[in-house]
Amino acid sequence: MPLAFLKQLLNPLKPVLVPVWNSAHQAGWWLAEHGDALAYGRREFCNNCGCRSWMLLQKRAIPPRLIELWGLSPVQASALARKETLSCTRCGARLRSRRIAAELLKQFPAETASGPARSIAEWVQLPRAQALAVAEFNQIDGLHQPLLALPDLHYSEFFEGVQPGQPVQGIRCEDLTQLTYPAERFDLVLTSETLEHVQDLHQALREIHRVLRPGGLHIFTIPRLPGTVSTYARARLDPNGKIETVVRPLLHHPGGDVGYPVFTEFGADVREILQEAGFQAHEHFGPLTDSDFAQVWVTQKT
Ligand SMILES: [Zn+2]
Repeated sequence: MPLAFLKQLLNPLKPVLVPVWNSAHQAGWWLAEHGDALAYGRREFCNNCGCRSWMLLQKRAIPPRLIELWGLSPVQASALARKETLSCTRCGARLRSRRIAAELLKQFPAETASGPARSIAEWVQLPRAQALAVAEFNQIDGLHQPLLALPDLHYSEFFEGVQPGQPVQGIRCEDLTQLTYPAERFDLVLTSETLEHVQDLHQALREIHRVLRPGGLHIFTIPRLPGTVSTYARARLDPNGKIETVVRPLLHHPGGDVGYPVFTEFGADVREILQEAGFQAHEHFGPLTDSDFAQVWVTQKT
């Protein structure tokens, strides 16, 4: 049998051929992904790292399952891909991170010898930024790195089953519905695509309001779809603390198709919800349209 003969011949070569095959496969995938991204990418100034770099649009970052669950049109799916990617090849800041960066530079302008700071990398070194007490809940891609230069930055993540305030491998655990920070501790609170994963949105907003100083800002992004009129719960916790599904469950995290449960689906009434929680609310880079999902909310404690 020629096939059996071929197998016999190839068997001793297997330890060499398999890794070669795997590497070729990986390289092919990487090339396809980056080729695609470069084809749709553009080169521009990054207001996070301060470099002129390629912004890579990765259309495949949005999983088909999420597109189907959310019922996105091709135009909307593309808007979501731009929000979640168009990532700077130098610092990794995606579009929504760079739009938060733009708001930071605008809301807390700081002067260099040659004019206003144009990037976060530059801004964090200046006295205006260095004086700010900042809470960053969940790492914001790209932006997190330069923010580490701020002396009063308090970065935390939510870890299931961990007592808030306790560290996990050096990272502080915080639950937005029961923060361990004292009242009026911060000038600035940052969250990006986090509020939808909080079990009790109203309690989280009350807590953010509590830890902000009067006049302090909460700058954030949330997922929102055109056509959703009222904010609604997709899931909630039952009295035993188990997740109870209200509407078809949705799991996501940026760029992935598995991740954290989504509790809140935001609608056109976000501003009223924020106002009820005691914030003056402004939507920047808006309004939300089919072709732009990357709005930034700037809310101020009144
Ligand atoms: Zn950058």
